[in-house]
Amino acid sequence: MSYDLIVIGSGPGGYVCAIRAAQLGLKVACVEGRETLGGTCLNVGCIPSKALLHATHQLHEAAHNFDTMGLTGAKPKVDWKKMQSYKSDVIGQNTKGIEFLFKKNKVDWIKGWASIPAPGKVQVGDTLHETKKIVIASGSESSPLPGVEVDEKVIVTSTGALELGKIPKKLVVIGAGVIGLEMGSVYARLGSEVTVVEYLDRIIPGNDGEVAKTFQKLLTKQGMTFVLGAAVQSASATKTKATVTYKLRKDDSEHKLEADAVLLSTGRRPFTDGLGLNDLGVEMTKRGQIATDSHYKTSIDGVYAIGDAIEGPMLAHKAEDEGMAVAEVLAGQAGHVNYGVIPGVIYTWPEVASVGETEETLKEQGRSYKVGKFNFMGNGRAKANFAADGFVKILADKDSDRILGAHIIGPYAGDLIHEICVAMEFGAAAEDLARTCHAHPTYSEAVREAALACGDGAIHA
Ligand code: FAD
Repeated sequence: MSYDLIVIGSGPGGYVCAIRAAQLGLKVACVEGRETLGGTCLNVGCIPSKALLHATHQLHEAAHNFDTMGLTGAKPKVDWKKMQSYKSDVIGQNTKGIEFLFKKNKVDWIKGWASIPAPGKVQVGDTLHETKKIVIASGSESSPLPGVEVDEKVIVTSTGALELGKIPKKLVVIGAGVIGLEMGSVYARLGSEVTVVEYLDRIIPGNDGEVAKTFQKLLTKQGMTFVLGAAVQSASATKTKATVTYKLRKDDSEHKLEADAVLLSTGRRPFTDGLGLNDLGVEMTKRGQIATDSHYKTSIDGVYAIGDAIEGPMLAHKAEDEGMAVAEVLAGQAGHVNYGVIPGVIYTWPEVASVGETEETLKEQGRSYKVGKFNFMGNGRAKANFAADGFVKILADKDSDRILGAHIIGPYAGDLIHEICVAMEFGAAAEDLARTCHAHPTYSEAVREAALACGDGAIHA
């Protein structure tokens, strides 16, 4: 069988690319080595982690807020096995959904692990497939840390953390990034004693510093403990227990933590094993990513790459947008991704969302900017819903008022951020948001108030 396009990998980058290319009239196949479609995101990433965050947030609401609202009665108990099967159902519904979309759009699913023996050729098992173009969307895997021996039972990556045999009494999380804090939150809500050990002196590096401080305070209030400025030396386990040793960077003193489980979440790295890229002569970056030009073409004609396997934020929606863009490029259109407006979200409670520049990056660039900030404490809906922790912060150019970035910590921040993304795509000024009527009572009013605060001032502050 010969194709116009073979996509390798069916994560959000690969499956979206395959579907869009088929919609644009190309004959497309997508190769996936896993048993099910959807990649890291649907199988062991975004979707299962959000299912556990949702379930445990409900538990937290029931335990902390139901009584105040006059909802009395027995508090729910955790059936971990059942919560796991709810999570598996959610995964199944989503991966089956991609199967359906492939059939609907006439994308062939080739099962097995692919390699590229030559441009225009994709080998899967004993079969050599011919194709005009190849898009590599092979994704990423957890980065290892020297001295930390992952067994996916006691010392786990995010994959093992999604299906621990039982809820650990004590959990040590190595790395205070998005994945560590999301999974740490899940277990903290389930009653685990969670200690997060982080090399830097702050959590969520790269995010707005003020948001990070507030976030750390709120997570601490929820029972999580942070050890910052700590370099993990080792983590080893018996069948049921683990020991983590770390050195505090400020004085080189060594410390030990005992735990029932350890989550290693210090980042992810591109996964390109078995593709044969070295023999093919594909240029790589120093960080092991596949190097591409602005149209996602690698150093080899006819071979393209997208998603976690290339440079840029390792996010599902970034991979999806690149999938659509490269499909459009291959169909002769002008595919494009605006990397200045890619939101990032942490799905804890409260959520954290950001887009564009931070105060730190603006200072580095020497740009003059103004800050419009509004606390959820001044938002009626948030107060009614026990969601008044946090704030919206909009950064706008001091002279032109154009929105340069936004940072939200608060209820549904991951949804609220998008009106600011749209505004930024249209080059809007903070005043444009401030003059847009926002329904009352909504959390979105806090976004408008922050925009107002960029000008003459918020009303409810
Ligand atoms: P992947 O989703 O990694 O898919 C790549 C696929 O390619 C895999 O299925 C793999 O089996 C297949 N493959 C690789 N090599 C071959 C080969 N040679 N032959 C055949 N198949 C191959 N991002 C967000 O935006 N929001 C979130 O909330 C979020 N939460 C996350 C939570 C966790 C716990 C983790 C681990 C990640 C999370 N991410 C999240 C990141 C997100 O999952 C990735 O950015 C996204 O999946 C990248 O998409 P991709 O298509 O590049 O690769």
